[in-house]
Amino acid sequence: MGTRRQVLTEITNERELRSTIDPALKGKPVTAIYGQKVFNDAAMRKYLPYKAYEAIIALIKQGGGQIDDKIAEETAHGMKEWALDHGVSHFTHWFHPMTGTTAEKHDSFLSFDDAGNPIERFSGKTLKQGEPDASSFPSGGIRSTFEARGYTAWDPTSPAFIISGVNGATLVIPTVFFSYTGEALDEKTPLLRSMDRLSDAAVKLLKHFGSKASRVWSTVGPEQEYFLVDKAYYYRRPDLVITGRTLFGAKPPKGQEMEDHYFGSIRERVLAYMQDCETELFLLGIPAKTRHNEVAPAQFEIAPIFEDSNIAGDHNQIVMDTLRKVASRHDFALLIHEKPFAGINGSGKHNNWSMSDNLGSNLLEPGKTPHQNLQFLSFLAATLKAVHKYSDLLRSTVASAGNDHRLGANEAPPAIISVFLGEQLDTILNNLEASKDAHYTDKAIINLGIAKVPQIAMDNTDRNRTSPFAFTGNKFEFRAVGSSFSILPANFTINTIVCDTVSEIEASIESLIKKGKNLNDAVMETILPIIKETKPIRFEGNNYSPEWEKEAAKRGLPNAKNTPDALKAILLPKNKEVFIKHKILSDRELESRYAIQVEKYIKTINYEANTALSMAKTLILPSVIRYQTVLANAVIALKNAGADAAAIADQVSGLNEYAKSVTVLKAEIDKLEAAIAKTNEIHDEPKKAEAFHKDVLGAMNAVRAIADHLEEETADDYWELPKYREMLFIY
Ligand code: ADP
Ligand code: MG
Repeated sequence: MGTRRQVLTEITNERELRSTIDPALKGKPVTAIYGQKVFNDAAMRKYLPYKAYEAIIALIKQGGGQIDDKIAEETAHGMKEWALDHGVSHFTHWFHPMTGTTAEKHDSFLSFDDAGNPIERFSGKTLKQGEPDASSFPSGGIRSTFEARGYTAWDPTSPAFIISGVNGATLVIPTVFFSYTGEALDEKTPLLRSMDRLSDAAVKLLKHFGSKASRVWSTVGPEQEYFLVDKAYYYRRPDLVITGRTLFGAKPPKGQEMEDHYFGSIRERVLAYMQDCETELFLLGIPAKTRHNEVAPAQFEIAPIFEDSNIAGDHNQIVMDTLRKVASRHDFALLIHEKPFAGINGSGKHNNWSMSDNLGSNLLEPGKTPHQNLQFLSFLAATLKAVHKYSDLLRSTVASAGNDHRLGANEAPPAIISVFLGEQLDTILNNLEASKDAHYTDKAIINLGIAKVPQIAMDNTDRNRTSPFAFTGNKFEFRAVGSSFSILPANFTINTIVCDTVSEIEASIESLIKKGKNLNDAVMETILPIIKETKPIRFEGNNYSPEWEKEAAKRGLPNAKNTPDALKAILLPKNKEVFIKHKILSDRELESRYAIQVEKYIKTINYEANTALSMAKTLILPSVIRYQTVLANAVIALKNAGADAAAIADQVSGLNEYAKSVTVLKAEIDKLEAAIAKTNEIHDEPKKAEAFHKDVLGAMNAVRAIADHLEEETADDYWELPKYREMLFIY
């Protein structure tokens, strides 16, 4: 592998700018290549009989449903013909198990006809359902070994696509994944359920305002942050390879304090990488839109144009996968962990969320008339109420060992969930709250400032970057999601809680109208108490300030600072109830999700701790002992040379200082080893998770503190691990 310094030479001398995409695609306008590898509308028109095409389009428009066997057969055939024309040999059902990533198992189209000749075959049945041997996916106890089968079922609302490699290509079919007993073993099943329920509730509410919409979609635009480091460093850092983050590393002399990286000019090597990523994404019909340098050195962002939450969720997984694959081709390693470097900003995923109806209106966009704005205020009130009532649940969807380093660390929203509305909208709600009107004529509504909402939306350009749930003119931005997360759990949770409050608002309006109230009065009487009641969740100030933590405690807002604590919200009766009531997740499914998350936390800290232990023992301790010997030999040499006593004493004192730190390192290593062993003996999983948080993480931090100190005291050429100042700045 070579010494650390050889790696620097390799990086500075051998890296060249490269392009890793098909040269034929270079310089083509995006419209010429967009969606080439997707079984999209154009491909379906060409490869499907018209009846099948119509049936699939109808399914897409209504968000799914039963698929007739004949249609499935024709679609499978057309899909296969299209795939063969694109050099595909295999297909896979692709799904989102509860690991946070995606899973695929490939099968070839190879089959034999009656005469024994090899043929390519893909049946309707195989398109519709698969049965991967899935006993090794987390099920949280849902699937015992005797019923270990898991099934995948085609999701026709997310288009199939092709993943190509240098030796061939695979047809990828998005699917849901469930158990023999029908329980969800994945994240897409609850997402699709939540989209349907939210649609039903929102369509019903829209009807009161005279809308003819028949379907509402939750829409999502996830802004993805990531780091790039040169591959040569990556392979010399076991912590990066195993855990995705650095477990050791002294602060570099310069971090992000100069604020010179954010939106800075993009280095050529990184730009070449980004462009290759974008070409791959365009081919896959993923609307990559924005690229830029982020706040931390070596940190970047890619943001797509928003899509419906199902497709956005599938696409975000492909984005993460593409970023990783293309990084390797450019001799980079992608770091998608929430906190790859201590003391430097981590990465998140701003999850922009809204609702659109099938007639093209964004339900969180203020309108032009008092009526339209009453509608807007109803959906706004629903969202406020959802976040207020279920903020602990939202917090649980962004809980992980990785995100614990970020939330509340003055770089990302705190663990306290609050809503930012912007000054003008905040003022309007305050005015509404103070209004004493008994009847809300259109004129009264205009006087309350509601008619001015459209301008507000335009002016409201999101000045508060510290809020975890910020209204940004026509959508909410949930900023607490971690960079490595699947966005599905956050979004099916938002969909579910908003579905709940939209239903409640609709029911109240309906009942008031039945009692003879007009629409204006019915709406105002419904939303005014909500505006009052949800006031504690609204916060316009600096979410990073210590004062806010105190203020939030006074307001009674939950503040779960770590994952074991945050996950408990999943089990609270009110939170279970909202999922069960709307048939998104059953009690058993929720219990299993809690168990999976707790276990995942334990496993993560356990492998992080073992990696830290092994690095400390086999890389850091040997380095410092070697250097300690050098210092000791220097003293002997000085003595032999008959140096001044003062000079010798000075060196001896330096040696003693160093040796003291080495002794502390050794002692902290022993403590970490003991903490890991002791914590692993705990059988109660939630208690074990807490002990991993408190005792094991604590012991890891202590080893790190002394190791990082020694890094600063050790001669550069004795230090084995690539340093922060190199990984973050030399690439
Ligand atoms: P920034 O937050 O960096 O200022 P933008 O406001 O332009 O960036 O957009 C951020 C993301 O929000 C993009 O992915 C964009 O497509 C998405 N977005 C815009 N409108 C909506 C919407 N109605 N629903 C969901 N996401 C949206
Ligand atoms: Mg944003």
